[in-house]
Amino acid sequence: MARWARALTMGAVLLGAAVPAHAQSSFADATVMTWDGVLTGIFLGLLLFSLAYNAAFYALLRERFLIWQSVRAFAYFALAIGLSPLAMGGFFTPDSFARQVWITLFFDLGVAVSGPFLRAYLEPGTIPKRLYRLLGWPPFLILLTTPVTVMADPPGLYFTLRSLFLVTMLTIGVTTVAIALLRGSRTARYQAAAWSGIGGVYGVSLFHDIVLQTPFESFLFLLFPALGLEVMLTALGILDRLIRLRRERTEAQAQAEAMRVIAHTDPLTGLPNRRAIEESYGQETPVAIAIVDLDHFKAINDRHGHDVGDRVIFAAGVALGSGSAMAARIGGEEFALLFRCEASAVAGEAERLRQRVGAYIAQMVPTLKRPVTASMGLVHIARETSFGAAMKSADINLYAAKESGRDRVVFIEAA
Ligand code: GH3
Ligand code: MG
Ligand code: MG
Repeated sequence: MARWARALTMGAVLLGAAVPAHAQSSFADATVMTWDGVLTGIFLGLLLFSLAYNAAFYALLRERFLIWQSVRAFAYFALAIGLSPLAMGGFFTPDSFARQVWITLFFDLGVAVSGPFLRAYLEPGTIPKRLYRLLGWPPFLILLTTPVTVMADPPGLYFTLRSLFLVTMLTIGVTTVAIALLRGSRTARYQAAAWSGIGGVYGVSLFHDIVLQTPFESFLFLLFPALGLEVMLTALGILDRLIRLRRERTEAQAQAEAMRVIAHTDPLTGLPNRRAIEESYGQETPVAIAIVDLDHFKAINDRHGHDVGDRVIFAAGVALGSGSAMAARIGGEEFALLFRCEASAVAGEAERLRQRVGAYIAQMVPTLKRPVTASMGLVHIARETSFGAAMKSADINLYAAKESGRDRVVFIEAA
């Protein structure tokens, strides 16, 4: 009996601990079978496809499970080469010790990375915390038991330890997928389907060995299509998961953008707010900045009520927002303007906008008995000045406009 066959599969190793040696024959005999080269080719091709597929998706969405799945596909690939009847040179013949080490190592690697793969792959929140931790590095402990399968005469306890370890890992994997299924994980559905083929083949094999006590002749013939099915269904599961991840990300981005717009918009006028105009100032320093304040606005509120006051503010916003300057509402009935036109055109445009405020208010709020005027403090931005400093200068000019009788622009260079 080729001893490495025991290392080949979980089922074989489980049997090593559970049933007498003669019952392990189906796994051993399976290796004697000459199996279809086409099948090997298809399987290897599938694995290469899986590797390319994961790499392509990783370029789009940097999800860790794609790396783990690539390592799994690579381990399967190496394992399939080791298990194939391909004669590969002097020390790597099908029955060689090197081949035996190779097969065991890649089988164990495949088992080990299935843990981290599963926990990165299933949707967050579908794996209980304790299981999540167990799926991290513990699966790699199997590599401590790898030598048992290639030792000439391993101590029985060592072999039992490996078997126990594999049973534990299998239980953890199945439990994780089962719990994730119960918690409504879509990914777990794909994984359960992907593993069902392999589970079925092992189940039948165990039945043959334990109950019928006859070798299961078609073991390898069925195992490889089952592994191929697992690779394909996992690829489908990954595609489905990536599509959902992408959609979630697009939705999150759209939501973040909506929040950003809300955070930068004044709800009453729909104009940019103070934060937005400050950011705009920082991105591109304007030629001039102005602060506009409605005159005797308190009186409008007092006489006509707050609602009418709001309509007046809204009309002022429409007027100021209709020009070439960027307009923002920075306080109750105060607005700021950023001019990015020719320096010589600033004064004209500023006065035009200021007068437009009164005209728009008269038109949009006809119930007002008296015309509403606005005062404006305007400054040129000659050098690199901070937003705060520029606003301060504009505010000084606004104060001067109010002091000198309101309803005017004051445009004095800052000291
Ligand atoms: P001045 O000509 O000196 O500017 O006189 P004013 O009455 O306009 O004085 P001030 O600018 O200090 O008054 C602003 C008033 O605007 C005070 C406040 O009750 C009112 N206000 C602030 N925010 C709002 C708002 O969102 N809606 C309304 N309706 N009123 C507001
Ligand atoms: Mg005012
Ligand atoms: Mg004011």
